[in-house]
Amino acid sequence: MTAPAFPLPDPGEPLTGGFWRAAARDRLAFPLCGACDRFCWYPEPGCPGCGGSDLVWTSVEPAGTLFSWSVVHHAFLPAFADQVPFVAAVVTIDGAPGVRLVTRLIDARPCDLAVGARVRARFVPLRFSTVAGEVRAPFFRPDPRRIP
Ligand SMILES: [Zn+2]
Repeated sequence: MTAPAFPLPDPGEPLTGGFWRAAARDRLAFPLCGACDRFCWYPEPGCPGCGGSDLVWTSVEPAGTLFSWSVVHHAFLPAFADQVPFVAAVVTIDGAPGVRLVTRLIDARPCDLAVGARVRARFVPLRFSTVAGEVRAPFFRPDPRRIP
């Protein structure tokens, strides 16, 4: 049995494509329910709060707070072999209550990190040596303008 190919995110995918299309324009966007005004993340066909289907990709300030993180030293997929170590992080987003985004932290030493630290997105090309092409992705870095 061979390992499956590691695909890049697809900006044309119906559920998640809006996130990647926004990122391609250096914007951070999440689906917002028009019926109950709740952000729905991870994207689903309907709002988990009210069941509504009027979900609109809505841009928010690309800033937030470090919720958690882990330093990844071992690549479990070949596509990540030349990228370790890196910091995988969960970030809460200022303008999107309830959203916790899994991302990467860059430009920071793990020993300097703290839960609650202010972070800001930096949109960077996401590429892998084992996969053709790239997409633009929001990684986060400590926000020098705001001290926790
Ligand atoms: Zn709703």
